[in-house]
Order: sequence, then structure tokens, then C-alpha cells
Amino acid sequence: MKALCWHGKSDVRVDTVSDPEILDPRDIIIRITATGICGSDLHLYDGVTPTMEAGDIIGHEPMGIVVETGRDVRKFKKGDRVVVPFVIACGSCYFCEKTLFSCCDTTNPGADLAKAAMGQAPAGLFGYSGMMGRYPGGQAEYLRVPHADVGPIKIESDLSDEKVLFLSDIFPTGYMAAENAGIEPGDTVAIWGCGPVGQFAIQCSWMLGAGRVIAIDRVPERLEMARVHGKAEILNFDNDPIHERLMEMTGGRGPDRCIDAVGAEAHGAGSLDAVIDRAKQAVGLTMDRPHALRQAIMACRKAGTLSIPGVYIGLLDKVPFGAIVGKGLTVKSGQTHVQRYLAPLLNKIEAGEIDPSFVVTHRIPLEHAPAAYEKFRDKTDGCIKVVIKP
Ligand code: NAD
Ligand code: ZN
Repeated sequence: MKALCWHGKSDVRVDTVSDPEILDPRDIIIRITATGICGSDLHLYDGVTPTMEAGDIIGHEPMGIVVETGRDVRKFKKGDRVVVPFVIACGSCYFCEKTLFSCCDTTNPGADLAKAAMGQAPAGLFGYSGMMGRYPGGQAEYLRVPHADVGPIKIESDLSDEKVLFLSDIFPTGYMAAENAGIEPGDTVAIWGCGPVGQFAIQCSWMLGAGRVIAIDRVPERLEMARVHGKAEILNFDNDPIHERLMEMTGGRGPDRCIDAVGAEAHGAGSLDAVIDRAKQAVGLTMDRPHALRQAIMACRKAGTLSIPGVYIGLLDKVPFGAIVGKGLTVKSGQTHVQRYLAPLLNKIEAGEIDPSFVVTHRIPLEHAPAAYEKFRDKTDGCIKVVIKP
């Protein structure tokens, strides 16, 4: 089959590779019909994630048609249409029983490296390097899905792929980001980053009762989407002094809830040592520019909440931790427990409460993916979200 493979920093190629096979009786194989490119893929593309190897297939936002099922699979049969969460979870360990699927204890055989960088290993993730289990990813024609009875959700309605695809990641991620923010009715929520995750965090903040949403970015099309589609007030960090503007807008108190939907900005790495060095340098490198996480900590009101869906890898220096303690902030973060949100969020799409396809700006065949990665990273050609249709 054809698949998008990583070959080094800023180097992804469409290669011919072996078709996936059932390796465990709980697996299914799907033929991919649509699959997203995510901001998390940029951490791989930028070379910031250690433990990528040349030839690794990337991608973790897939959906498609079941073409083969292992003998222990109960929920699916050939021909079923499914969306696949980016988190691989066993469904029966200590953490899965608490619906903390992205903390699954059993699905990440590359755990040692992840532990070194993060203290403990998160669950296995599709297309996310040796650190996350080295599961081949979904920017390909076919995908093996382990623990099929725990992950994928069957789509029985005739909703288009683009309306349901983002259940795989960014819609639940935006939802968990808003939930983690602990929004109370009428709260002012400030969101750093108007990429796909930020756009869904805006939508979900309204769903959870925000009275006001302020969105921050520098890319005009993304700010425009936040304003028009997200009904957010917008601030451009190239022109607006963000901290001062947020204070003015909230009577000097600061936003009640702050969401960092930006994540790591470090570039270039290779080994784990290199990534830690890069992470250390990152703050220094961005000293002259606003840094989302530090800004969010400093702006958040006393006893407010900071929710961090943005991904950081390794160490991060010069975080104003004193402000977290001094103001009594609550901080919540993590990879999304996608499985937990699939059914309720599919219900919202089916009920017409939200049409997630609003975020799609580019639709391409797999062959065009290398060029699309460049556009998505550089934020050129109005690129906000790319859907690959292999
Ligand atoms: P993206 O790169 O498209 O969007 C990031 C946006 O942040 C860009 O529009 C950029 O202009 C903006 N930005 C950069 N610096 C900023 C600053 N200082 N202030 C305000 N805005 C700034 O990525 P995305 O797909 O939206 O993903 C965002 C983050 O969420 C990434 O770190 C990604 O890895 C992470 N993510 C996490 C999960 C999870 O499970 N927690 C899931 C998906 C994505
Ligand atoms: Zn993603």
C-alpha cells in the first residue's frame, strides 16, 4: 500500500510499504477514507520528538471501512464504517477502568523512553514514534487498529466523513480542554492558539457555559475563523500587548479560565538528550516573543484554571510557577481520553448542534501530503486543517 513515511526533519514521503496484517485476535484492519494532519504531527515533522525512525508511518486522525477482523472482535464486522481515536487503550487496566484511556498502562511498549521524558509513559498512540509504542499511523491506505472493541466508534448515519472525522482527535481534544478548564456559567475564557485545537476549544467553551471567549493568535485567517465561526473576541499577538489587553477586558482581574492550545515551539532534535536541550533552550529562543503558556499563567485570575491541551515534550524552563502557587491556580493537562467522548460528541453532531467540518480548508489525495505538511506548518495558503483522502 501507499503510506506517508517520516524520513527526517521536514522530510515526509509517500512510500510503498507492506499492507498491515492482523497481529492479535482483537485487531481490525480498516481501509482509510479520510485522515487529518494534526498540530501534533508537526512536532514529528519539526524533528522535536525523539525516537522517530526513517520509514515510520505517521498520522493519528483516521476513519474508514473495516476490511478484516480478528477472531475475538465483537463490535465490528467487514464493511462497518468507523472513526478511530488516536489513543490506543486496552479497556481493562487500572486507568482504563477509570476512563483515563490516554493513561492506559498496557498499550505502550516504548514506555522507557516516554518515562525518561515525561516521568511516566502515556498510552500508545498511532503514528507517534517509538516513544508512544511505534504503532504505524493512519496517513496511509490501510491501518491496523489494535483493541478494536475499545477504540473505534461505528458511524451508522450517512453523515459525510468530514463531519465525523474529527471525533478521532481534535473535537474531543477541544472538548476535554474546555472541560478541564472548569468553566462556570458566564465565565470569561481566554484561548491561546486558533489552530484546529483552539477552534474546537472555542466551540466547546460555549457549549460548557462560557459567557465570553477571547481567542489569541497571529494568523489572520485563523483569527477570522475564531471571530466569525467561533463568535470569539480576538487578539493578534503581533499587534496587541496580550497581557495588558486581557487585563483591560476583564476589569484588571484576568480571565477566569485560560486554555493553552499552542504547545511546544521548539525545533529540531534527534536524541532524547537533544530534545531536552531543545526544550531548555525553547524559552530562551522565544523570550522576545509572547510565549503562550507563560502568558496564560500570568494572565489567569486568582483561583482560576489553566487547561493545557498543547503538547510539551521534555523540560520547559522559566515557567512562572510562583504565580501558580501565589494565585492558587488549578492546572490540568494531558493527552485526550478520546474514547470517553466519542458517543456523546457523535450525538451532538447527529443532533445538528455542531458541524465540525467548518475547520477544513484543504482536501487532498495522499500524494499531495508532503506539500500540505509544509503549508500547514508555515500557515500559508490559508491552511487551517488538511484532510487527506487516500
Ligand atoms: P497548530 O500548529 O495548527 O496551531 C497552533 C496555533 O498556535 C497556530 O495558529 C499558531 O499561530 C498559534 N500560536 C503560536 N504561538 C502562539 C502564542 N504565543 N500565542 C497565541 N497563539 C500562538 O496546531 P493544532 O492542531 O491546533 O494543535 C495545537 C496543539 O495541541 C499542539 O501542541 C498539538 O500537539 C496539541 N494537541 C494535543 C492533543 C491532546 O490530546 N492533548 C491532541 C491534539 C493536538
Ligand atoms: Zn492530533
